[in-house]
Amino acid sequence: MEAKNFIEDIINEELEGGVVNEVHTRFPPEPNGYLHIGHAKSLCLNFGTAKKYGGKCNLFFDDTNPSKEKTEFVDAIKADIEWLGFKWYEMHYASDFFDDIFELAIKLIKDGKAYVCDLTAEQIRETRGTLTQPGTESPYRNRSVEENLRLFNEMKEGKYADGEKVLRAKIDMASPNINMRDPVIYRVLHATHHRTGDKWCIYPMYDYAHPICDSMQGVTHSLCTLEFEDHRPLYNWVVENTGVAHKPRQIEFARLNIANTVMSKRYLKKLVEEGTVRGWDDPRMPTLTGLRARGIPANALKNFCEAVGVAKANSEIESGYLEHFVREDLNANAERAMAVINPIKVIIENYEGSELLDFDTKPQLEESPTRKITFSKELYISAEDFSDNPPPKFFRLKPEGYVRLKNAYIIKCERVEYDDNGAIAQLICSYLPESKSGSDTSGMKVKGTIQWVDAATCVDVTVKKYDYLLKDAEYSGQDFGERFNPESEKIFVGKAEKYLAECKEGESFQLLRVGYYKTGKENGKTVLHEITSLKDTYKAK
Ligand code: ATP
Ligand code: MG
Repeated sequence: MEAKNFIEDIINEELEGGVVNEVHTRFPPEPNGYLHIGHAKSLCLNFGTAKKYGGKCNLFFDDTNPSKEKTEFVDAIKADIEWLGFKWYEMHYASDFFDDIFELAIKLIKDGKAYVCDLTAEQIRETRGTLTQPGTESPYRNRSVEENLRLFNEMKEGKYADGEKVLRAKIDMASPNINMRDPVIYRVLHATHHRTGDKWCIYPMYDYAHPICDSMQGVTHSLCTLEFEDHRPLYNWVVENTGVAHKPRQIEFARLNIANTVMSKRYLKKLVEEGTVRGWDDPRMPTLTGLRARGIPANALKNFCEAVGVAKANSEIESGYLEHFVREDLNANAERAMAVINPIKVIIENYEGSELLDFDTKPQLEESPTRKITFSKELYISAEDFSDNPPPKFFRLKPEGYVRLKNAYIIKCERVEYDDNGAIAQLICSYLPESKSGSDTSGMKVKGTIQWVDAATCVDVTVKKYDYLLKDAEYSGQDFGERFNPESEKIFVGKAEKYLAECKEGESFQLLRVGYYKTGKENGKTVLHEITSLKDTYKAK
């Protein structure tokens, strides 16, 4: 099979050499928050690689840190994965394996490869050494196996307070890799776990638990992000020294970073908790639930992840790149409809009555289906489509000027009526009866076509436009709070075809000349949420 990244190169080599005979991956979130776009990349990689090789991919909840984890997050993570359309082979929790993980710690103690240490967290840090200096051995390093077994069991029985004792792997305090300098593998933590309740008051550390859980699940390739590269020797040490039967391999890949957005759960949580955004599902959030609320199609996100690819070095992607795939998907799939922003009334003085016109709902198809729209004497157009002081080359409506109303007629602006404040009150226009779209015999060529709605049948809507969550960083390390873009949400009044108020909530449309929008309701009123603009600012490299 042709490899499309370095991970597939490795797998191909292993399959050829008989090192492995199947591919089994896992997606390993910690249920301490909601998934974001970065996780989508990891999901696409783990599920995609398994699928390509006819293998399996598990969903694995890394729940070794009970103080931060919640069932709410577990449920949200599952819903997000299902939204992306991935089906896990089996679902496991690290907590399913707590008994095995404990027994393997006992084995390490019996083999003289782990010891109970009474140093405080701070003392452990201080004696760990630096990149240029070796660490110093703990005075508890040479406790007897019997004493270690007794103390470790006492830790488990709840005899010690949080932080009073830890279990450490006995590896090498002079190792050039600091992670190998007798890392802590178990800690005392009197916290209620969202699944095991108060059964345990000691919890294994990630670096120790993860390889064991991978092995127990039959994972062949444990794919993780680059910051774990330095932890790989410890991963391998745990696999070798606990003697687990099945030996998985850790491979690191680059994180996905996107400009003008934040991908760390810690900061996303802060935005939610401080009320800067309305919740994890705020449409400006880079969370999968936020993207779904925004109306981003799952397929667009997957195509984006695919296009970004898998690399060994970290980089930052322009946010326009994701929008490019969103537009590509919506342009092909979304129905068209009409709405106007900041409406101005248009009176067609020579038109009487009303009629039904054909509106092309999917002009992107070779044969567009049509839907009937109403046309009558009073209409609305967007404020930006009229100017009483037009710059050169203004091809929308202007005094004495002509414009085509989409799927309707050519109109001419005869005069402008102003209110007492000097603002435009309404436009008095005339129409050319023979210019009807589809049967135009007017012989008239007009440069501009604009969208409109019929005043008799349209509905009031709220239009919400979104911009990047964060402003550009002015200096590196600037706090995300300071970078929050107060203009990330802007609200406008609008008028829309009644069709948009009557259709299913959450449907996506291309609003002609306005953008891609999703329908919603707030307090019974129709809201149109911007998904993305019409224009592609992304230049493919
Ligand atoms: P965060 O820092 O946002 O909390 P995390 O890495 O702690 O992220 P986990 O729940 O531990 O989040 O991650 C689950 C999986 O998703 C891990 O394999 C992790 O490496 C991967 N992942 C997380 N963020 C990204 C990202 N930006 N790009 C690619 N993969 C990611
Ligand atoms: Mg994490």
